[in-house]
Amino acid sequence: MSDTIERIECLIIGSGPAGYTAAIYAARADLKPVVYTGLEMGGQLTTTTEVDNYPGYPEGVDGTKMMEDFKKQAERFGTDVRFGSVTKVELSDQLGGIHKVEVDGNKKIEAETLIIATGASASYLGLESEQRLRGGGVSACATCDGFFYKGQDIIVVGAGDTAAEEATYLAKICSKVTMLVRRDEMRASKAMQKRVMNTKNIEVLFNTEIDEVLGEKKAFGDEVVVGVRVINNQSKEKRVIDVTGVFIAIGHKPNTDLFVGQLDMDETKYLKTKGKSSKTNLPGVFACGDVQDHEYRQAVTAAGSGCTAALDAERYLTSLNE
Ligand code: NDP
Repeated sequence: MSDTIERIECLIIGSGPAGYTAAIYAARADLKPVVYTGLEMGGQLTTTTEVDNYPGYPEGVDGTKMMEDFKKQAERFGTDVRFGSVTKVELSDQLGGIHKVEVDGNKKIEAETLIIATGASASYLGLESEQRLRGGGVSACATCDGFFYKGQDIIVVGAGDTAAEEATYLAKICSKVTMLVRRDEMRASKAMQKRVMNTKNIEVLFNTEIDEVLGEKKAFGDEVVVGVRVINNQSKEKRVIDVTGVFIAIGHKPNTDLFVGQLDMDETKYLKTKGKSSKTNLPGVFACGDVQDHEYRQAVTAAGSGCTAALDAERYLTSLNE
């Protein structure tokens, strides 16, 4: 354990659009921000391919490239971007209090303000074939990747509001959407279920799960999805459905384990923020991006809330000196 304790004015945890946007604004306000990136540097966007819906990129942009640009822009104004994961926090409930943070199990930091941008992670089924084909036809984001399946047949796995919303969204782009529901009923709200059932090119298969995602190597060696083998969990009957895309929509998990018992969360463990602000229940602690937003979850909305968090942190520090 290292004994030296570093004092930081504005510590940002997370390196997705929210974290880097907070860093750009905090650096320009001379808060000398330090970003700890976490293990997945650049966040969820680095797991997707092309981003076509972020304003300012008329031709689209590779997700990883876009996050490198965010990082460069934050660094241009003096942000100190460090690879590492926060492993423990001890947050103060006092106005002007110091938040104690531990990085990678040894480095100790005292932060005057803390901006939490740790995001959320899409849940996956956990099948080996599913993991192998991520980026080759398996996706967890219809808004990001749906366009690539124009006129094609695809699968949506899940039965909640997200799955229902993604299935109806994809039905407008794709030729046919087959929705796999593991029980004999859907969890989605009645209104969403009705929308699914009223969409002609969506077929819902109940009591059905994926047994294996089937891939085929293409000329350049990349493996892409060519179908799924599904199993009816009642009759145990298996069959193959030919599809080129598999969208997993079985929920997201916010990355908030570090803050349990210290910050207010909703019943699904998303951080609670006050009104339109990024303020949590503790002074000097702010949250932005997907870690506090289970509804919109877009890069551009996350970036917007990152800006809000930096402005809130700046105003908080200014108010302490008044
Ligand atoms: P949910 O937790 O509501 O639903 C997850 C779904 O995935 C469930 O139907 C679940 O099945 C299924 N599932 C979980 N694990 C597996 C698995 N291993 N194999 C197959 N299926 C699986 O998550 P959502 O992301 O849909 O929604 C999260 C929250 O956000 C909800 O409160 C929702 O209402 C809200 N939301 C609201 C929207 C809106 O109002 N427009 C849009 C999107 C989300 P089972 O039912 O069997 O457990």
